[in-house]
Amino acid sequence: MIPGETPGFREQARAWLEEALGGEFAAARGLGGPGREHEGHDLRLAWERHLGAHGWTCLGWPERYGGRAAPLADQMAFHEEYARADAPARVGHIGETLVGPTVLEFGDEEQKERFLPPIRRGEELWCQGYSEPDAGSDLAAVRTSARLEGGEWVITGQKVWTSLAHVADWCFVLCRTEPGSRRHHGLSYLLVPMRGPGVTVRPITQLTGTSEFNEVFFDGARTAAGNVLGAPGDGWRVAMATLRHERGASTLGQQLGFRRELAKVVETARRTGAADDPVLRDRLVRAWLELEVMRLNALRMLGPDPGPEASIAKLYWSEWHRRLGELAQAVQGRAGLVRAGLVKAGLVKAGLVGELNELQRLYLFSRADTIYAGSSEIQRNIIAERTLGLPR
Ligand SMILES: Cc1cc2nc3c(=O)[nH]c(=O)nc-3n(C[C@H](O)[C@H](O)[C@H](O)COP(=O)(O)OP(=O)(O)OC[C@H]3O[C@@H](n4cnc5c(N)ncnc54)[C@H](O)[C@@H]3O)c2cc1C
Repeated sequence: MIPGETPGFREQARAWLEEALGGEFAAARGLGGPGREHEGHDLRLAWERHLGAHGWTCLGWPERYGGRAAPLADQMAFHEEYARADAPARVGHIGETLVGPTVLEFGDEEQKERFLPPIRRGEELWCQGYSEPDAGSDLAAVRTSARLEGGEWVITGQKVWTSLAHVADWCFVLCRTEPGSRRHHGLSYLLVPMRGPGVTVRPITQLTGTSEFNEVFFDGARTAAGNVLGAPGDGWRVAMATLRHERGASTLGQQLGFRRELAKVVETARRTGAADDPVLRDRLVRAWLELEVMRLNALRMLGPDPGPEASIAKLYWSEWHRRLGELAQAVQGRAGLVRAGLVKAGLVKAGLVGELNELQRLYLFSRADTIYAGSSEIQRNIIAERTLGLPR
C-alpha cells in the first residue's frame, strides 16, 4: 500500500479491472503501448469509453468535471493495478494527462465545460503540436503562425513527431500569433480540430516499423477565436504548464509495467543461459535495484512539494528504460539480432521482414525514451540550473 492511499480503493480498482477484462474486453489485454500503438485501436477506444462510463478515467480531476478528486496516492495505486491487470494501453492519455490538466488550470468555465467531459468519456482524443522541424529542444523557436480572421484563428505551419495525430480529434498547437515577435513572446496555445479542412497528417515510420507519430501540416486550418487557452500571446506559460504534467505525475504508476518487462528479460536470461554470465547477472540485479529506487522516488513525489524529485524522475526512468532495452537484447544473444521467422523462411534474401519479438521492440522503442518529453541533455540542464543553481 502507498502512503496516503485510501483504504479499500486499490482492492475496488483491482476487482473492477479483473471483471471488466474478463468479459467482452478480454481480447484487449496487453494490447498497445510503445511501438505497438497500431494494435486493436477500435477495441481500445471502446475500452477507453467503458472506463469513462464507469468512472475510471481522470481520477484526479474535480468531481464537478466527472473526476473523483482522488489523491495522487490513489492515482498511482490505480496505475499499478492497471498494469498488474495487463489492461490495454490507453488511447486517451494525452487528453487525460496533458491537455486536460492544462484546461483545468488555464481554461475559463466555458472551455472546461466544452473540452473536459469528452476527454473523460473517451469521446475525443488529443495530440500535442509542439515540435517543429527547427524547434524541438529549443521550443521557443516555433514558427507555425496563426492570425484572427472573421472570428476564427487561421493556422499555417508544420509540426513534426506528433504522436497519435492520425487518430486524434483535436490538437493543442503552440504557435506564433504576434507577427514579428521573438522567442517565447507572442505565442498562443490554440485548441485546433484535426478533422477540418487545411490539416494534413502524414505518418512517419519508426525503427519498430510502426508509425506512432506523424508530420502535421496546417495550411489555413481554422479554429474558433475562443479556442485559445490562457491569454493570446501568453502561450509559453501555458505550454510550460503542460510540460510539467508530461514530465511529472503522469508517469507515477509506470514502474509496475517496467517490472513486468524486467521479469520477461530475467525469464529470457534464464532460458538462454545468459543468467549464468556473471556480467549480465550483475546488470540484471542492478536493473532490479534501480527499479526499486525509481518507485521510492515516485513515492517521494507524492509529498506536498515535489521539487527536485519531479525533475529527476523523467531523466531517471528514461535512462533506466533505455538500459533495460539494451539488456533485453544482450540476454537474447545472437538471436536478438534476427527477426522471428526471417532465417527459417529465407525472408532475408527476399528482402522481407519478420515480426519483432517483445524484447527487440522494447530495445528499439526505448531509444526514444530519452528524447521525447524533453531529452536527457535538456533534463540535465534543468536539474543543473534550476534545482542545483549551477551557472548556465
Ligand atoms: C517517440 C516520440 C514521440 C514524440 N511525440 C511528440 C508529440 O506528440 N508532440 C510533439 O510536439 N513532439 C513530440 N516528440 C518530439 C520531441 O519532443 C523532440 O524530439 C524533442 O523535444 C527533441 O527535439 P528534436 O528532436 O528537435 O532534437 P533537437 O532539439 O534538435 O536535439 C538534438 C540533440 O541535441 C541535444 N540538445 C539540444 N539542445 C541542447 C542544449 N541546449 N544543451 C544540450 N544538448 C542539447 C538534444 O538533447 C539532442 O540530443 C516526440 C519524440 C519522440 C522520439
